[in-house]
Amino acid sequence: MERYDLIIDGKRVAAEHHAEVRNPSNGEVVGLMPLASSAHLDAAVEAARRAFATWSMAGDEDRKAACHAIGAKIAEHAEELARLLTLEQGKPLNGLGSRFELGGAQAWTHHTADLDLPMEILQANNEGRVELHRKAIGVVGSITPWNWPVMIACWHIIPAVRTGNTVVIKPSPNTPLSTIRLVGLMNEVLPAGVVNVVTGENSIGAAMSAHPGISKMVFTGSTATGRKVMASAAETLKRLTLELGGNDAGIVLPDVDPQQVAEGLFWGAFINGGQTCAALKRLYVHDSIYDEVCDALVEFARKIPVGDGLDEASILGPVQNEMQFRKVCDLVEDARANGARILLGGEPSAGAGYYYPPTIVADVSDGVRLVDEEQFGPVLPVIRYADIEEVIARANDNPNGLGGSVWSKDIEAAKRYALRLECGSAWVNKHGAIQPNAPFGGVKNSGVGLQFAADGLKEYTTAQTLFC
Ligand code: NAD
Repeated sequence: MERYDLIIDGKRVAAEHHAEVRNPSNGEVVGLMPLASSAHLDAAVEAARRAFATWSMAGDEDRKAACHAIGAKIAEHAEELARLLTLEQGKPLNGLGSRFELGGAQAWTHHTADLDLPMEILQANNEGRVELHRKAIGVVGSITPWNWPVMIACWHIIPAVRTGNTVVIKPSPNTPLSTIRLVGLMNEVLPAGVVNVVTGENSIGAAMSAHPGISKMVFTGSTATGRKVMASAAETLKRLTLELGGNDAGIVLPDVDPQQVAEGLFWGAFINGGQTCAALKRLYVHDSIYDEVCDALVEFARKIPVGDGLDEASILGPVQNEMQFRKVCDLVEDARANGARILLGGEPSAGAGYYYPPTIVADVSDGVRLVDEEQFGPVLPVIRYADIEEVIARANDNPNGLGGSVWSKDIEAAKRYALRLECGSAWVNKHGAIQPNAPFGGVKNSGVGLQFAADGLKEYTTAQTLFC
């Protein structure tokens, strides 16, 4: 059984205590996660502060080259990382699983490497010259969730190091091993101390957001934890990027062809077994085509092979952890007790592992927990509506605001409605598609700040205005 180490100041550091990381497909131990102490965290922050002195002064070209070298390392070890990710996360190697995630990690890394934040001349005339410069902030603390751990680690780390910051990352205790390996690879091409990893229970995350040596936190996870990070970061006035939970609505207009949209709707909702922040989590379908859309979804969903992620035939895997699994079971039971009709799935699968089949729930509405709360699992509630104005209000009547979509043959009409959704990303005839050149972030309770593209990069800098 491999015992993993922390990585601090470019070196592997053994922890005194470890915790088992288990495969959600079968409960077997995948590896031993080191449990960092607060002294380890202090050492990681101190190493990152020392490295900041030189890394922040390195030239843009050097930092770009380093980020591309990281991308190349990830490519070289993609299959190894994908397998480790599948073992600890449960997602299949195939489909929109681990190999897809590793592809995303590389795409984001290379795209972000090439971004620039050049000095801006705000004024150059007889009255003087004013320049706006972007400078690195300091040590960035990164806390990541368990759903897309490798890709999200790259979303946090690469813009930070590209702009001259140094990083201490803490992955989720559910999926720490692939991040430790990723940071190990990064350390093969970066100077010591630029990227450090500490792992452990949630308390290490709490210690990071309060740590006086950390100048910015980038956090991806639930809204409840995001609030705690924001509160504890207040004491030291840290800069913050918070990417939090979502409860995205999709609205299907009456003119769609149900057969044509079924695949897009399914993957919008069930990507990564629904364990995706910007997955489609509430589907509103016009009364006139409600039954046809439900039937088309069930027909499509029925054919998706669910199984152990290492099996090349699997397209969806188990729910990642017991807490999430229980939540999914509870929400479906609650919907059933409230008169919902389960069209497909609806019961946990027999046998080992946290398997829950793709589940489509009809005749459910706002006010039921499955609709109002983020299910974060392989269950889609399909809700009937009759009036477009009313359904836009219902879609917006939720504290979350991550994504939303409108489905129609009339693209212009769909765009008009999509722009009225209270969310950071809106899609027409698709859901959840994100890309490194398009800023991404939540409104309302779904987050603070943006990731990706130049807007995302700016969040890792402070502005300095130079009057000369
Ligand atoms: P979570 O909030 O339980 O945990 C996220 C991370 O926070 C983990 O590393 C955890 O150890 C750490 N943590 C826990 N308590 C902490 C504390 N008090 N202080 C600091 N850190 C602490 O979230 P999760 O269950 O791992 O992830 C699922 C959630 O993440 C969902 O709500 C999902 O929508 C959200 N998410 C959002 C995005 C986005 O980009 N908006 C992306 C992926 C996931």
